[in-house]
Amino acid sequence: MALANIPLAPVLPGSRHLHSGKVRDLYELTDGQHAGKLLMVASDRLSIFDFVLETTIPDKGEILTRTSLWWFEQLSDLVPNHIVSTDVPPEVAGRAVICDRLAMYPVECVARGYLTGSGLLDYQATGEVCGIALPGGLVDGSRLPAPIFTPATKADLGDHDENVSYDAVVGTVGAEIAGQLRELTLAVYGRAEEIARERGIILADTKLEFGDRDGTIVLADEVLTPDSSRYWPADDWAPGRAQPSYDKQIVRNWALSPESGWDRASGESPPPLPPEVIERTRSRYVEAYELLTGETF
Ligand code: ATP
Ligand code: MG
Repeated sequence: MALANIPLAPVLPGSRHLHSGKVRDLYELTDGQHAGKLLMVASDRLSIFDFVLETTIPDKGEILTRTSLWWFEQLSDLVPNHIVSTDVPPEVAGRAVICDRLAMYPVECVARGYLTGSGLLDYQATGEVCGIALPGGLVDGSRLPAPIFTPATKADLGDHDENVSYDAVVGTVGAEIAGQLRELTLAVYGRAEEIARERGIILADTKLEFGDRDGTIVLADEVLTPDSSRYWPADDWAPGRAQPSYDKQIVRNWALSPESGWDRASGESPPPLPPEVIERTRSRYVEAYELLTGETF
């Protein structure tokens, strides 16, 4: 398994670095009004095939941060969220949020309305996804009879998350919380799928994370960004093959083309992206954001 090559997170005054994922850097604020809260910074890093590319996509972090904030707003009547403020240090203006530090439930709460990725692999092997039996004859990209909750456990850096059964979630967090996580996840997916559909975009699946704030279940992390969700252009949807992804397809296609000179089997990171690929990818992120939210970036 490829180990993500994540660059060092920048030092930010008034905060302590806690963790860096493939795309985001997490800090604890140590000074000022929000001391003790988290600062979540979305970088312009992009990962494909589990490699963090050395080339960044200008504005991606800001676009993803705005996307999350917009969705939190659309969902606010369904579930409380962790956002405290967008008044962040100037070094990370626009690309960061201040949020409550929650006790996170160790469950990646995934909802799927369409079959692909690890769900498809499980289905092909067993006819089930996370212990949920599905009808026969489904193919890559098939719409499911109804959306399903397919939880996963969080893997270490560089590893894939592992799909688990609902009973395993009950074993981890108890029946009461497991039931609420499932219900909230499906409610969020249902609302978001409908909104995206009206705008010509299929939300195939999404991964949510929740935490506890004084006995209340709170929606945390990023929500419904292209990094945590599969968005497909509805016009191009054709079950029976891999669907083009809204955001990363341009980079994936380029990396796999002879033009890049990259050999996926080599285990090495793809080479730097040409300017034209960077610009087209940036435009895709902007386009997806504007289509979904109806706002101008
Ligand atoms: P990947 O790049 O594969 O996503 P990762 O999950 O380790 O790796 P990030 O997603 O950047 O990297 O990390 C964000 C971390 O912050 C996650 O562990 C997530 O569970 C945690 N987190 C998100 N929101 C909160 C919150 N409000 N309180 C505490 N932890 C949070
Ligand atoms: Mg993550």
